[in-house]
Amino acid sequence: MQERSVPDSPGIVRHDARSTGERSVLTSLLRGARLTCPACGKGAMFRRYLKVADNCPACGEALHHHRADDAPPYFTIVIVGHIVVGLVLAVEMAYRPPLWLHAALWLPLTVLLALLILPPVKGALVGLQWALLMHGFDPNAEEEKIEPFDVGIRNGRGR
Ligand SMILES: [Zn+2]
Repeated sequence: MQERSVPDSPGIVRHDARSTGERSVLTSLLRGARLTCPACGKGAMFRRYLKVADNCPACGEALHHHRADDAPPYFTIVIVGHIVVGLVLAVEMAYRPPLWLHAALWLPLTVLLALLILPPVKGALVGLQWALLMHGFDPNAEEEKIEPFDVGIRNGRGR
């Protein structure tokens, strides 16, 4: 495991552990969906609700390479939409309840389901990226350098 100090953040040591063993897509995806590290399946992937830990607390695997971006909300909307729209149609066909009851049922259910489904979906996507060696998860990849926007402007780029 390599350790290095983050230059502009004194006191913060980032572990750059990168396992090179076999990476099963299904196992990694399921471990991520259980909110655990895709490498060992023991350490917690998230340090807060949707904040992925920089490194697995159990095995030290670097998890900060993930680029889940807006894929988790996208898949969450697809899943929740299919569940809620199906239920709305079924209840409407069976009972024809008043509109206020529809609103009272489905609006809170939609919010609750989205909040419950978002972490396992994000975990599964991070596990998938890890298994497929995407982004910095590839042990042979160079460290990704993300330049802050204003640095590019100062150097005359980004115009
Ligand atoms: Zn781990």
